[in-house]
Amino acid sequence: MYEASKQKAFFEQSKQFLSTPATKDQIEDLRDNLRFHEWKYYVENSPVLSDYEYDMLYKSLEKLEETYPALITEDSPTQRVAKDLTSEFNKVKHLTPMLSLGNSYNKEDLVDFEKSIVKLTGEETMTFAVEPKFDGGSIALVYENDQLVRGATRGDGTQGEEMTANAKSIKSIPLKAAFSKYGIHRVELRGEAVIRKDVFDRVNQERAKNQQVLFANPRNAATGGLRMKDANETAKRGIDVFIFQLSFAEDANGNDILHQFEKHSTCIAMLKDLGFKVPKSEFGVYSTIDEVSQHCIKWENQREKYPYEIDGMVIKVDDFKLQELAGYTQHHPRWAIAYKFKAKQATSILEKVEYQVGKTGSITPVAKITPVALAGVTVSSISLHNEEFIQSKDIRLGDTVLVERAGDVIPYIVKSLDELRSGKEIPIDFPKQCPSCNYDLIKPEDEAKWRCPNNYCEAQIIQKMIFHVSKDAMNIDGFGKSYVERFYDLAWLRDISDIYNLDYQAIAELEGFGEKSATKLQEAVLKAKQNPIHRLLNSLSIYHLGRKASKVLAERIEHVLDLADWTEENYTDIHDVGPILAREVSHFFQQEENIALIKKMEEYGVNMKQTEEDRPVEVAEDAPFKGKTILFTGSLQQMTRKEAQQKATLAGAKNISAVSSKLDFLVVGEKAGSKLKKAEALGTVSILTEEDFLAMIE
Ligand SMILES: [Zn+2]
Repeated sequence: MYEASKQKAFFEQSKQFLSTPATKDQIEDLRDNLRFHEWKYYVENSPVLSDYEYDMLYKSLEKLEETYPALITEDSPTQRVAKDLTSEFNKVKHLTPMLSLGNSYNKEDLVDFEKSIVKLTGEETMTFAVEPKFDGGSIALVYENDQLVRGATRGDGTQGEEMTANAKSIKSIPLKAAFSKYGIHRVELRGEAVIRKDVFDRVNQERAKNQQVLFANPRNAATGGLRMKDANETAKRGIDVFIFQLSFAEDANGNDILHQFEKHSTCIAMLKDLGFKVPKSEFGVYSTIDEVSQHCIKWENQREKYPYEIDGMVIKVDDFKLQELAGYTQHHPRWAIAYKFKAKQATSILEKVEYQVGKTGSITPVAKITPVALAGVTVSSISLHNEEFIQSKDIRLGDTVLVERAGDVIPYIVKSLDELRSGKEIPIDFPKQCPSCNYDLIKPEDEAKWRCPNNYCEAQIIQKMIFHVSKDAMNIDGFGKSYVERFYDLAWLRDISDIYNLDYQAIAELEGFGEKSATKLQEAVLKAKQNPIHRLLNSLSIYHLGRKASKVLAERIEHVLDLADWTEENYTDIHDVGPILAREVSHFFQQEENIALIKKMEEYGVNMKQTEEDRPVEVAEDAPFKGKTILFTGSLQQMTRKEAQQKATLAGAKNISAVSSKLDFLVVGEKAGSKLKKAEALGTVSILTEEDFLAMIE
């Protein structure tokens, strides 16, 4: 809609209006300028002015209009704010009915869909448009003479409720759009009101703060927002409207001219050009059902990463002539179909609970449910976290449970359906003894989980070894859970030191091994022996000691056993180490068997001395960011995020992850979003471009 050169011109004009306020003669220029920024912000999601600057421009328009009320126009950006409240939502008839869609669930259904179109139209080849099926509230917008004149909810499909004031308050809906450029006098558009997932989270946080009832999901928040009596409340919800169809168009003489545009995809391109929010890479046009199906699957797989909730894709025959030939059933068009994504929720029966012992002895209850298909995978095991979780949800054996799996997130139990209980369900009795070694479990007061305190607990020892060889710890390539369990069963492994003293000849003779894989394993173990000591510290499974604190400790010791001589004061000096961690680490290094273990590992050649990688970065006195905190946001052009952070560390800065009053510098790349806004709002953060940053560290 706005070419690059035009965008630049608008931007420069804004800067001028900010230094020299617009005059009466420039009022329409100022409005166009604000419209441009609304588009940048709400349609494109890439603002070029700060919120403050935008507000200043907006206020200068308000002021001009106050001085010259005769110059106020209906489509002025100031008119988005409703002055008087509508008490009624009048029923209005849509210009064309809003029908629902038939559903499909897999590729075979799509093939059948194509076959039916071929049969109905007599046409063998055709193209299909594929777009997201937004999970929100449908609306219809009518423009006349390039002005938004009506907004309405879907209602029963024939009649909806008028909500023009609310539609006007939604900034991704242009109040003015140049349909006349295309010879259109009156037009009806279909759109879906949605709320970005992150905006939804913020809205709910805000509501929680004000002790208001939380919204169940973005759809409820959006559809409810459309029907607010006070349009200013609608504006607060952060609703976006995606336009997905041009359903009616006539010229100044009242002739239906929709078919002049020939294709659905042409209309979408036109709407984009007119400044409406339409799907971008989510929209595709294909000539085979194979490609259509691939597009659907691709978006199903990445639906969680998409900023809006979508529950499927919509496939439309692109050509209007073929659409007409295909026609309609009573309920839906024959030329379009919804491809429904697999359900994220399902019910199943809780059959039993197993108790897993972790590497530091914590006990995790795991629900075993009747296997159920959920968003494309079969689920039979779900973590119940801890005793408190089971009690608070009153989950019982034999219960019908509602299970959810969202994207890459592991499945979880939403709730028990107690209305389906027969009375035979049994409350879950959390064990008092370790399922592996029978030791009495303990539960420190400030912790959520029960623990087995036995150092010689077999389950713990095996878990410790599995963790020890894992990527996060010693990163022994190819050495995983199955090897650990197998070697343990053969009594080759009794503690982690044995990992470094294996008999590779014997391994080569094991079934399924051979010389080659035994040698490979030997090389991986050999390599791990040279690891920096921060990895070694982390791999010991010391309670509460993680990767970050391991690094902090490794920076301060020359040899791992130096920790055996540490006193309480050594720890209290370290900012990142709290008293609980200090207690656990010193407890570990006071036990003789642990000292013996480390000495044995050292004998087997495992490095126990501080390496180059463990040493703290030397920061010069005059380092440009010495003692400062820094954060990178947006996409950087000249280096990766990681490289940038390394450069910052070398320049004395501490990388932190959130914008707060503790942040000194925010470096913004392209498309910087909420972090930039937050930093600007704080007013205490120095904002740098990537170039500024590079210049400073030169
Ligand atoms: Zn145990």
